[in-house]
Amino acid sequence: MRILVTNDDGIHAPGLVHLARAMATLGEVIVIAPERQQSAAGHGITLHKPLRMSAAEIDAPVAEAWATNGTPADCTVLAAADDRPRPDLVVAGINAGANLGEEVLYSGTASAAMEGALQGLNAFAISVTAYEQCLFEPAAEFAAKLARRLAESDMPPDTFLNVNVPNVCAEELRPAVLSRLGRRKYVNSLERRLDPRGRSYYWFTGEPLESDCDEGTDIGAVKAGNISVTPVHFDMNFRGRRGEIEQLLDGIVE
Ligand code: MN
Repeated sequence: MRILVTNDDGIHAPGLVHLARAMATLGEVIVIAPERQQSAAGHGITLHKPLRMSAAEIDAPVAEAWATNGTPADCTVLAAADDRPRPDLVVAGINAGANLGEEVLYSGTASAAMEGALQGLNAFAISVTAYEQCLFEPAAEFAAKLARRLAESDMPPDTFLNVNVPNVCAEELRPAVLSRLGRRKYVNSLERRLDPRGRSYYWFTGEPLESDCDEGTDIGAVKAGNISVTPVHFDMNFRGRRGEIEQLLDGIVE
C-alpha cells in the first residue's frame, strides 16, 4: 500500500511525524506537506504561482518526504500527479486542534482528505482536540487501525472520513462512534489594531460561542470522550424546504 501523509500544520508539525510513523508500519509512505502553517487554508489550490517541492527531513521511516509552497489540497494533487505512482490512501493530520462541524469547510486538513476523495482515493483526516500538549499516540494508533481497514475495503465514491480524537490518554479514551457534523456558533470578531506606522490592520479572533452537542453529532461525541468518525461528502446541495425556496424565487427562476 502506498500512503500519502499530509497535513495543514506544516512539514515541521509533530502530529505529522506521529502519523508518518504509524503509516510506515502499513506500507510505503510519501510525505508531502506545506512548508509552513496552513491551518484554515480550506480547499484552496495554487493557480497563480509556481508550485515547488523541496526534499525534506522527517523523523519517520518514509520513502519520500517533501515540503511544498502550496496548500494542503495542493499536496494531495501533487501526490496524485501523473509522473508518480498514485497513492492508495490519503491521510491528513494529525492536526493539532479539533475539526468539528462547519470547521470542516475551513480546515486544510479536511480539504487535503477531500481532495483525495475527489481524486478517487480512500482518504481520511484526523485531528486531536487540543492545540497544545497534544497526545498524538492514541490518534496515531487509531489512524493505523483505520488505514488497515481501508487497505481491505474502499470508501464510497467522493467520500472521506473526518476523525476527531479527544486529547486524553489511551486509557481514558472511549470507543469510536459514527457521527454527523454538528454546528458550532462563533463570536467572529475582527480586532482592529494599529501598526507602528499608524495604519490599521485586523486580527481574526473567532471563538466558539456554543456548540450543537446533540446526540449523534461529532461535537457531542468528542465531548463525551469518544473518538468521532464522520463520513463527509462534497455534495453540498440542499434538497430540503424546496417549496419555500421556489416561493422565494418566484418569477426569477422557472
Ligand atoms: Mn491545522
